[in-house]
Amino acid sequence: MKTKCLIIGSGPAGYTAAIYAARANLSPVVFEGQQPGGQLTTTTEIENFPGYPEGVTGTDMMDQLREQAERFGTQIIPDVITKVDFSKAPYKAVADNGDEILADTVIIATGASAKYLGLDDETKYAGMGVSACATCDGFFYRKKVVAVVGGGDTACEEANYLSNLASKVYMIVRKDYLRASKVMQERVLNNEKIEVLFNTNTVGLFGENGVEGAHLVRFKGTDKEELFDINIDGFFLAIGHKPNTEVFKEFIELDEQGYIKTNGITTETNVPGVFAAGDVADPSYRQAITSAGMGCKAAIDAERYITANNL
Ligand code: NDP
Repeated sequence: MKTKCLIIGSGPAGYTAAIYAARANLSPVVFEGQQPGGQLTTTTEIENFPGYPEGVTGTDMMDQLREQAERFGTQIIPDVITKVDFSKAPYKAVADNGDEILADTVIIATGASAKYLGLDDETKYAGMGVSACATCDGFFYRKKVVAVVGGGDTACEEANYLSNLASKVYMIVRKDYLRASKVMQERVLNNEKIEVLFNTNTVGLFGENGVEGAHLVRFKGTDKEELFDINIDGFFLAIGHKPNTEVFKEFIELDEQGYIKTNGITTETNVPGVFAAGDVADPSYRQAITSAGMGCKAAIDAERYITANNL
């Protein structure tokens, strides 16, 4: 198969890129990847995407984006790209089923995955009190008690954000210090709604119809080890994200955290004709709307590249 524009990933960045590329007559091909619709399909209600005054579920929004992309002639393939060769144009990608695709331009929109602790209860209570995005789900915990796991900048930022909504925020921090920058630490430590539980790990969650509390352990593995419970309504993971860049790292320049580096305000990577959009290239904002915006930019960048190179 040969395409002018191969889009890898089907979150807001991938589908928005597809809508723009299709309307620019590039007949894009989208590989959906491991999680069709991306991370939004794991959240419940989206209330902060402009244009949905009543809110929309993550799955409904992604279905609509998919439909919009298909309406203009996008081909959507339910497979995962497992290998690429960007050493010469046209660029080659290999799908899990062995099919090879040649592409004049490639838009990488493979997103990032929030890290989880690996507890069975995180899966059991997914969408029922467990979240990895305070900006997405914090609103549902107004006047309730929540916990944030992690001691980095994200955890501090999320704890502060949640403290404006919730009645109380616990931070569950495994070390005896916060890794976050000084200014973020101070903000957390001076916030009377936030209680930091240092030297503490999560053992499990409990609750009948959703999270009602967490089983914790302090000073794990020492003679001071102590098990205790806290009552909470929401459990927020903020222990980092992992950009999905493994497949591309041989060819594409990444930053020290593994995110794709893009050139200034464009979506250009170090390989001409290969662009990146959404969470895979954004360690900072990670919102559906910013990803969609980057997807739009990537499609415009791809179209300009094709025109400039007479492809
Ligand atoms: P970090 O890697 O900086 O922090 C992760 C935190 O999670 C650490 O406290 C770590 O603990 C903890 N953690 C990791 N794994 C586990 C586990 N299995 N159990 C319990 N705790 C765990 O990630 P962030 O997402 O916070 O930040 C990523 C990058 O983005 C950083 O460079 C950060 O500075 C930047 N950032 C900047 C912001 C800003 O400037 N406004 C906002 C958000 C992020 P430990 O310390 O023990 O390793």
